[in-house]
Amino acid sequence: MTGALRGVVALDGPSGTGKTTVARKLAAALGAGYLDTGAMYRVVTLAVLDAGVDPHDADAVVALARSVRLDVSTDPAAPGARLEGTDVGEAIRTPRVDAAVSAVSAVPELRDLLVQRQRALIAEAARDGGVVVDGRDIGTVVAPDAPLKVFLTASPEVRAARRGAQDTAAGREADQATVLASVERRDRLDSSRAASPLRPADDAVEFDTSELSIDQVLAALTELAGTRGLLDEGVAEPCR
Ligand code: C5P
Repeated sequence: MTGALRGVVALDGPSGTGKTTVARKLAAALGAGYLDTGAMYRVVTLAVLDAGVDPHDADAVVALARSVRLDVSTDPAAPGARLEGTDVGEAIRTPRVDAAVSAVSAVPELRDLLVQRQRALIAEAARDGGVVVDGRDIGTVVAPDAPLKVFLTASPEVRAARRGAQDTAAGREADQATVLASVERRDRLDSSRAASPLRPADDAVEFDTSELSIDQVLAALTELAGTRGLLDEGVAEPCR
């Protein structure tokens, strides 16, 4: 039997480390809320592209982000993202959005806006228990007081293979070399931007998932949460 999560688990790392899947499954297994902050940057990017706005035009990006309604679910059993009330769960995972999201997410004022919303969503989700939050700057900026911060890594090849498998499963064409180039380009941009670059918090536990299955990562994180005293006795949903 696994206990229910109390407090915030910050899960950061580059793409293809399994972060989003791990965050959602961990939250479901521990009776917690879940927030995919990457989905928020992706929804804004989709709005930017649909409106014909230049992703590098910071003022236009921020003005648009302020004017559109974006919603993300914090229920791990029903993940989802909406733009102006329309389900965009699929549309935000396309190569078109992949190619533009790092430029959009490098805009400091946009980050301020989304970080505020993320903190409000985290506070709401954490009111009745715990919340697992996945992103790039959760441990460093969004929730620096989180009692458990984890930074997931994996080799670029493994990450590209995972992204490719996700694309194939979603019915999108996935050429391995193209996926690897896209993953490496996004890492480079996300790690080198001035505003909240991708990096582990000083007190994050770094975890290389290259050789591990999702279930093994889930077991390790659950143990870590227990060791930190973040699990109440009681909830018993299997980790799957
Ligand atoms: O996690 P995911 O790959 O969906 O994130 C998409 C992009 O959103 C990242 O490549 C990064 O540019 C941006 N992002 C960010 N900060 C976060 C989450 C995502 O800058 N907390």
